[in-house]
Amino acid sequence: MTMQKELLEILACPRCRGQLEALGSPLQALCCRACAVVYPVRDGIPVMLLEEALPLHAWHPDSNPACKTRTDK
Ligand SMILES: [Zn+2]
Repeated sequence: MTMQKELLEILACPRCRGQLEALGSPLQALCCRACAVVYPVRDGIPVMLLEEALPLHAWHPDSNPACKTRTDK
């Protein structure tokens, strides 16, 4: 996806300014391997806040907080 690629070029980890890795297809989160954190993507918008970041080990595509919010009854 071109959009994802462009996003990744623009975005950097707010903590270390490192490169981010896209998770999920469609894009569900952005991962910083250096910080071992995952930034969720909500409604296609990456949430680049340290407060919103999940530890990398806690991340699982099925437990995406964005998806949970969207499918919440
Ligand atoms: Zn980082």
